[in-house]
Amino acid sequence: MSKSVSVGSVAIGGNARVAIQTMCNVKTSKIEEVVRQIGGFYDLGCDVVRVSVKDDDDLTALREIKNRIKMPLVADIHFNYKYALGAIDAGVDKIRINPGNIGSEKNVEEVAEALKRSGTAVRVGSNSGSVEKELLKKYGKNEISLAESALKNVAILEKHGVDNIVISAKASDVPLTIKTYEYLAKKTDYPLHLGVTEAGTVGMGVVKSSIGIGALLLKGIGDTIRVSLTADPKEEIIAAKRILRAAGLDKNYVEVISCPTCGRTEYDSIGLAEKVERLTSDIKKPLKIAVMGCVVNGPGEAKDCDLGIAGGGGVCAFFKGGEIYKKVPFDRAEEEFLKEIKKLVE
Ligand code: SF4
Repeated sequence: MSKSVSVGSVAIGGNARVAIQTMCNVKTSKIEEVVRQIGGFYDLGCDVVRVSVKDDDDLTALREIKNRIKMPLVADIHFNYKYALGAIDAGVDKIRINPGNIGSEKNVEEVAEALKRSGTAVRVGSNSGSVEKELLKKYGKNEISLAESALKNVAILEKHGVDNIVISAKASDVPLTIKTYEYLAKKTDYPLHLGVTEAGTVGMGVVKSSIGIGALLLKGIGDTIRVSLTADPKEEIIAAKRILRAAGLDKNYVEVISCPTCGRTEYDSIGLAEKVERLTSDIKKPLKIAVMGCVVNGPGEAKDCDLGIAGGGGVCAFFKGGEIYKKVPFDRAEEEFLKEIKKLVE
């Protein structure tokens, strides 16, 4: 089991559930917009949010943002150790920085001391595009060099007594991502931040992330996830939630199962399945609802559901545990079924 690292009120690693992260795509100095965006992330079920610190204005904004949001805040810093010190001073819960690229040993020492004093967590990591030349020469361009690059940054912090560390090692190549995190999981017990980087837009990006992150989660690897998408960050949170659910790590939701439809389908089960999914997407109850195309196979195939519907011969049959308990004509079936769902989830 990985070690537990506290990121404000959220534990990452150990026995904690896998935390969902995303990143704001508004400039951090635009405080009102950032706070509004983070409020939306919170409502959707995001656990931790990251903002970039690109200039002095962004740094100045951190304290107010931190005070106005309800979830842990991570500051993303590249190269500038002074921004790391400023972010820690502003009270952020975690910083994302690589000690290997913030300059002299003295800079690293100052950041390490500030981290220890404040208890702020830190994420270090590697990216397939920025692995150090000497590691590429030693191991080649593969999972070992990518993982060792992340571990090199870990070692720098450990040397200075910092151990509140989360590790990432991202590639846009899915098999490489999986192999790299498997390697890391064998080598270290620090919690791992999973993600497939530059995954693309929603369609392919969700597929790549689901395979990469999902394969690892199913092996018990990974403590926090970020689905990187070229899209509204809310899509990342929705995708992350779905990945956790599909991997069986979040059971507290309404699972809508529905058949693919075929020539036996006589009513709009596709439209109904979409409506049921929308109606139940925010409900935190471990329930299973089935929307099946035909009454011949539907109730049998969805035996273990709490409520189900299947159509045929001008009526829809409502069933529970595989047993039909009610039949409603097609024209009233949808309305009645949605009412039954509301009763069930209340
Ligand atoms: S449940 Fe019926 S309609 Fe749906 S795919 Fe199976 S046979 Fe076809």
